[in-house]
Amino acid sequence: MSREQARQVLERAHRVAVATHITPDADAISSLIGLTQLLRRLGREAEPFCDDDLPSRLRAIPHTEEISRVARGSFDLLVSLDASDPARLGQAFAEVEGVPLLNVDHHVTNTRFGAVNWVDPSAVATAEMVLWLVDDLGVPLDRELASILLAGIVGDTVGLRTPNVTPQVMREVIRLMEAGASLPALVDVLFNRRSFAAIRLFGQAVAGVQLEDGVIWAVITREMRHASGLGPASDLSLSSFLISAEEARIAVVFTERDDGKVEVSMRARPGYDVACIALAFGGGGHPPAAGCLVPGPLEEVIPPILSALKAAAQDGRADPFG
Ligand code: 5GP
Ligand code: MN
Repeated sequence: MSREQARQVLERAHRVAVATHITPDADAISSLIGLTQLLRRLGREAEPFCDDDLPSRLRAIPHTEEISRVARGSFDLLVSLDASDPARLGQAFAEVEGVPLLNVDHHVTNTRFGAVNWVDPSAVATAEMVLWLVDDLGVPLDRELASILLAGIVGDTVGLRTPNVTPQVMREVIRLMEAGASLPALVDVLFNRRSFAAIRLFGQAVAGVQLEDGVIWAVITREMRHASGLGPASDLSLSSFLISAEEARIAVVFTERDDGKVEVSMRARPGYDVACIALAFGGGGHPPAAGCLVPGPLEEVIPPILSALKAAAQDGRADPFG
């Protein structure tokens, strides 16, 4: 049982480097800081790494100022969190060699790249798996740790609204709230913070939206991003908005980066699967929310991905009540 193996590996470790994925979201940072704090409460040395900038709203999570980009020094254990393949770690672990890696993740597309792999797609968030570790390792929940972990659960469930939110998840949320975490404060920080520039860019992208064969899509070019003045670590959550289109079964947003690569963010209605498409294009994710990073240019990237998504929009279950 890999949950038990993960507990044992963590119990034996003394100096742990913990890393999460690039383009970090709330679950990435929540599980990163949560596990680091858990290990420190157990008297271990633990350092958090993320090889990317953080969106400013995630700076509200305590201890994010302790995050460095690349691990250097001597460690006896590396832990990867919420990353479905090693490329998602960027260079975080590129300069440490010969140290075993524990891979903790909830993505169905995880490539099992660790020496020990604990991959549980039934978890709503990697932060939920860290909460299970808190219990397995017998660490009491305090207000700070509860708030850190609730951030990831609330983030990956879009405010406890995704179909995988079971009564068990709600009981965990209640426990975290009883330990002092504030659900409304986290919802406010995670979902109600956008810069004016982000809203203008969002509007411009929505103005160019297209719909064909059940797939709705929008494109954000480098020029649009530069004109808006937005920094690279800004996540518009545009794909989550577009999937609200009644005529769409799948939504996708293509964002051109400064290095010419294209970030592809996909969403599917229940009964449709974008994780397999993301995987086919070198990325990963969950059936309802997935992504990939592909070499540009935009005009070459868009047609093959769109046609794969149009096929997936035909395959799924057409009637959610059927
Ligand atoms: P989002 O569209 O919100 O950026 O990401 C949706 C889901 O897909 C998240 O679980 C995220 O971790 C995953 N994802 C996004 N981009 C990539 C990627 O380039 N590679 C992999 N493996 N997963 C990705
Ligand atoms: Mn996650």
